[in-house]
Amino acid sequence: MSGVSSRPLKVILPDSELPRHWYNALADLPSPLEPVLSPATLQPVTAEELGRIFPPALLEQEMSTERFIPIPDPVREAYLAFRPTPLYRARRLEESLGTPARIYYKYEGVSPSGSHKTNTALPQAYYNREAGIRRLATETGAGQWGSALSMACRQFGLGCTVYMVRVSYEQKPYRRILMHAYGAEVLASPSERTLAGRQTLARNPDSPGSLGIAISEAVEDAASHDDTNYALGSVLNHVLLHQTVIGQEARAQLSLVGEYPDVVIGCFGGGSNFAGLALPFLADKAAGKEVRLVAVEPSACPSLTRGAYAYDYGDTAGLTPIMRMYTLGHGFVPPGIHAGGLRYHGASPLVSRLRHDGLVEAVAHHQSEVFTSAIAFTRAEGILPAPESAHAIHQAVVEARQAAEEGRERVILFNLSGHGHFDLAAYEAYLGGKLQDYVQSDEELAQGLAALPQVAAG
Ligand SMILES: *Cc1c(COP(=O)(O)O)cnc(C)c1O
Repeated sequence: MSGVSSRPLKVILPDSELPRHWYNALADLPSPLEPVLSPATLQPVTAEELGRIFPPALLEQEMSTERFIPIPDPVREAYLAFRPTPLYRARRLEESLGTPARIYYKYEGVSPSGSHKTNTALPQAYYNREAGIRRLATETGAGQWGSALSMACRQFGLGCTVYMVRVSYEQKPYRRILMHAYGAEVLASPSERTLAGRQTLARNPDSPGSLGIAISEAVEDAASHDDTNYALGSVLNHVLLHQTVIGQEARAQLSLVGEYPDVVIGCFGGGSNFAGLALPFLADKAAGKEVRLVAVEPSACPSLTRGAYAYDYGDTAGLTPIMRMYTLGHGFVPPGIHAGGLRYHGASPLVSRLRHDGLVEAVAHHQSEVFTSAIAFTRAEGILPAPESAHAIHQAVVEARQAAEEGRERVILFNLSGHGHFDLAAYEAYLGGKLQDYVQSDEELAQGLAALPQVAAG
């Protein structure tokens, strides 16, 4: 026996194993999703309405029920700069927990902008350029999505305007600077650029902004300029589709070392990194494999665990189509937790359906316990995780402790959706004992749900 264990610490796929297709879970749903409704007519939204802000190829993907959708060569080439991403075995974390569980994580923080969001930013920029679009408008909260899209627009020769939630714009300058470095235009939202922004400022000149308001601004910008489209970093079917490169690679990597997960875990904001990792395993589940799929959200923004499964708007102003999803109400403003990417009132309609049908589990954790696990992970594995990803880490720790209590092996796979190098202020707050947990009463949550659009859900 040499001093180096034969159990691999990381599994790397060669470039030739980069997936050639995205996996479309709409092909494997027992029944189709409810139609998306127009905010203007409350009737199913038309291709013409959506065509004002999305290119044809993405609209087609949004509705498609083809199981596998080919990844265009220019997108595969762009992916190859950082994909396939590594799969790591968290052996030092296992040892520190004294667990018989084997913990694996897929690391998406190696993408140029630092998170999984690059996986959808690149194809979205590509398809828009192919459609003759010159500029993309989008929103960003903490800035991960804005950074990813700024980078992708630069690669495919498009302009990029990012409406950044004002509180983040002011308190978290580093991702704003990164977006500027990529050459994007970044506006603090609410801004004077749009009607939605001006109306919000008229009501409250000191508005800190929210993701919902910033979406309203970006959608209005796109709808009012012919050469400009809108891009969304999560929630929609085509975004989840693009992220399935993560789960396809992870499945192949685990199988190289003779493993299959008992549980697959992702943090949950709008649903894209969770779905990206988990959906390729859903197909196995449908074929009879036993695998649990667990989405982890913050207790302070508990759409999947405490929200209603109902029709709601994607934004605050009610400009986006209405979708059936788990929601806390489009007017819900989540407390200022440090995992900014998980502060969204709604959820992907696709994951919502899977949750409603019992194919996906959901749990919620407080940020203080999440950061405790993040630090344990950092000290064991050396990587500083994004606060969002740390929610998945904490659930992996919970599962590993349970395995230890039961004295049973368990294979745990989670998505490390991004690194935390731009989130050091959050770590400073945690290490200084300044993190606060938030719990809304049922009455508080009921307020947000009282203002849902009046549409009967089937
Ligand atoms: C945006 C973000 C999330 C949350 O968004 P999802 O669409 O739910 O994946 C999670 N992790 C990181 C690192 C992010 O940037």
